[in-house]
Amino acid sequence: MNANTLTLRCGRARVHLLSDGTSYWDGGGTFGLVPRVRWMKLLPPDDLNRVPQELRCVLIEADGKRILVDCGVGDKPNDLIATQYDVRRPHGTLMDDLARHGLRPQDIDIVILTHLHGDHSGWATVLSAGAAHAGSEALHPLPTFINARYYVQRQEYEDATHPNERTRNTYFAENFVPLMHHGVLTLLDGEAQITPSVRVVPTPGHTAGHQSVIVEPTSNGAESAPVFLIGDMAPFMIHFERLPWVTAYDVLPMVTIETKRRWQRWALEQGAVLVSCHDTRQPVGRLVRNDKGLFSVVPLEAGGTAE
Ligand SMILES: [Zn+2]
Repeated sequence: MNANTLTLRCGRARVHLLSDGTSYWDGGGTFGLVPRVRWMKLLPPDDLNRVPQELRCVLIEADGKRILVDCGVGDKPNDLIATQYDVRRPHGTLMDDLARHGLRPQDIDIVILTHLHGDHSGWATVLSAGAAHAGSEALHPLPTFINARYYVQRQEYEDATHPNERTRNTYFAENFVPLMHHGVLTLLDGEAQITPSVRVVPTPGHTAGHQSVIVEPTSNGAESAPVFLIGDMAPFMIHFERLPWVTAYDVLPMVTIETKRRWQRWALEQGAVLVSCHDTRQPVGRLVRNDKGLFSVVPLEAGGTAE
């Protein structure tokens, strides 16, 4: 399955998986307290103990809008994540993937950011010689999607603009502060309906203000299951299957576990199509529970909702 071309249907909505490339992170960060001898069987690390993480973004076409969920790492030369995590882009960047769908940055109507970590907010802004600084050689970050309204949880923006010793290197202000200065950022307080078929739900734990995105069919008689963009609540499907598997980056790991418990139940009841943000091998799947009560994420059935 080529994740770069996968499209899911949900009622009249279309959900296209995009990518800003693959990055390489220390496996100890990705799997936290889980011993290497257990996770290495599932995801063999390279000789620097790194595992590949897809930088997945999603384009939703719904309700006459083009909605981008998450913005990869971007291309700012002084961004730690964009430069130090060995980003490889054999198929180009998120911008190239949008172009493959015939879209330019100005064609995007809405940008939803699950959270503001550098691997999710990179392309939210681009460096440009802005008119406000005419005469200056310096480049300044400006919103990339000039016609879009951006949405993030207020809690996330607060935390990202007041980082502490632990979170400082995960946030890069140039990716999001310009959105506020240019008046294009809406701060949300909890669950919000973005369009008739797209809503965001708070899924705290990875960060306190993390949100996930649900696409639901609106048309009468549509039988499609919802599509659930889980974000870093569970960066790999294995994190969604197993409650104690929580990354070392999560600032509220016990909250992550309760969030996952709640949304596992919902995903099972709804038969939701899950979309992972970092899983290189299992970009989409559906949660099932076996007779021993164990959860697993299985591929979508042939002839299911994937196009
Ligand atoms: Zn991430």
